[in-house]
Amino acid sequence: MEKAVRFHGHICPGLTIGVSVAKYVLEHGYEYSPNEELVAVVENDNCSVDALQSILGTTYGKGNLIHQDYGKNNYSFYDRRTEKSVRLSIRRNAFGDKKLTRDERVQFLLKSNPEKVFNIEEIDYNPPDLAQIEESVQCEICGELTMSSRLMVYNNSEICIPCYKKMRK
Ligand SMILES: [Zn+2]
Ligand SMILES: [Zn+2]
Repeated sequence: MEKAVRFHGHICPGLTIGVSVAKYVLEHGYEYSPNEELVAVVENDNCSVDALQSILGTTYGKGNLIHQDYGKNNYSFYDRRTEKSVRLSIRRNAFGDKKLTRDERVQFLLKSNPEKVFNIEEIDYNPPDLAQIEESVQCEICGELTMSSRLMVYNNSEICIPCYKKMRK
């Protein structure tokens, strides 16, 4: 929790959900990922994701954190070392039918077994591809170097996405 708070900046229920997810994962045969060994696929971009980045080493910059913008507190993990995979999805009644304050939710999550908070299932091992290193090419309009796979073709010119959007206006 301390490590996650140092990274995230504050204590909140969202971060605590992520800490609970990370705790389950570390206690079930997965390890911190200095490189791209462990991949996290998250279905939200809320506070919880910062706990995974700081505790599990599944980070945006390394490419082993994949964001799917579904607005759900669901988390899938694939370990390239062991070919194990697991998915945690928050239970509909994770907090019971109690109305809890923000602080009470943090305390509740810290005390609860992840098994009580999440539905946990083994899933097929089909991790996303490894991050690719690509050459950078100059945009023919603004001149900025751009990853080649992100270039658009417009009037036979290869241009970056922001320039493409301006041209289409
Ligand atoms: Zn937060
Ligand atoms: Zn450009």
